[in-house]
Amino acid sequence: MIPYGRQDITEDDIQAVVDVLKSDFLTQGPAVPAFEQALAATCGTQEGVAVSSATAALHIACLALGLGEGDWLWTTPITFVASANCGLYCGAQVDFVDIDPLTFNLCPKQLELKLLKAEAEGCLPKVVIPVHLTGRSCDMAAIHALSQRFGFRIIEDASHAIGASHAGSRVGCGQYSDITVFSFHPVKIITTAEGGMAVTRNKDLAQHMRRLRSHGVTRDESEMTRAPDGGWYYQQVELGFNYRMTELQAALGLSQLQRLDDFVQRRRELAAQYQSLLSGLPLTLPNVESDADSAWHLYVIQLQDTSRRAEVFESLRQAGIGVNVHYIPVHTQPHYEAMGFRQDAFPKAQAYYAGAISLPLFATMTDQQQGEVVAALKTALAS
Ligand SMILES: *Cc1c(COP(=O)(O)O)cnc(C)c1O
Repeated sequence: MIPYGRQDITEDDIQAVVDVLKSDFLTQGPAVPAFEQALAATCGTQEGVAVSSATAALHIACLALGLGEGDWLWTTPITFVASANCGLYCGAQVDFVDIDPLTFNLCPKQLELKLLKAEAEGCLPKVVIPVHLTGRSCDMAAIHALSQRFGFRIIEDASHAIGASHAGSRVGCGQYSDITVFSFHPVKIITTAEGGMAVTRNKDLAQHMRRLRSHGVTRDESEMTRAPDGGWYYQQVELGFNYRMTELQAALGLSQLQRLDDFVQRRRELAAQYQSLLSGLPLTLPNVESDADSAWHLYVIQLQDTSRRAEVFESLRQAGIGVNVHYIPVHTQPHYEAMGFRQDAFPKAQAYYAGAISLPLFATMTDQQQGEVVAALKTALAS
């Protein structure tokens, strides 16, 4: 089976993890801050908060921005469930904004219309989470301008987009948002096995997220309600979690980070090759030219004849091609449907989902493997 995504682990990566195993610290040592600083610098921002997953990063990012009961969080229906679930963890209500059918990303025009309606009804969102689907940045300048006008905060879910750029800046630089979140799950662009990071320009937000990732406990006297009893003293000043990243994970991440640009370059090359190999087939292909700065986490094709999607998908799987679908619209999941969302509430998302198939794409994929994928797809479409 050629998988849709897979990690690339070198001897250097393995040695980095073994070195940690032989060191004094398996957790709460020097590797986590080193990884945080390196990734923040790569993105052109100041602060990184490494955690056990991107889901954990989204949760503490929402909490740090004050999201709670009575608030609204908006995101796109075409994302992994975690981008919406983080709002529910905080006791907030979740709603969705339909996508732009050309980029598959949250549509700024739809967002503006929905904001105007929400303003009239007195239920503006506190937090909006744009998701850089497939590794291509959302139109962050437009979303940021709306945040200034309507007073919401922005968390970029950049789980697909480490190494991507937008208008000349790295995704994660923080020019147009409060916090950006990355995932290091093995299918993503760099991996720490499980793991995630929240990056921000804002020192106070970073400090708050660090406290939330470790039980809400502080050893910083300036955050305490009274003077310490002694050198052992700490205070729990709010309810936090154990969302810490281990030293093993951070060492792996730091080692992987050195190859980030190579990974993204190979993904861009493979995407460009798919584009020419698949031209002329009854498919809607992603727009490679306008996606030039994408990190290409995913290469998503859409069947023009959506009635054949399941059959083509099955035939590819039978042929050993590990295709996938990203994503089932979140609002159609039973947990969300039970909140009252109608299946047809977001027609652009529904239309995208009906034809979508993610083809295998990963940095170590060979041209020969790509050829096998294309041949199997041609056979499936012709049958
Ligand atoms: C993978 C992913 C997540 C969750 O990442 P974890 O590190 O597995 O928690 C969140 N959002 C999107 C868009 C993702 O693709």
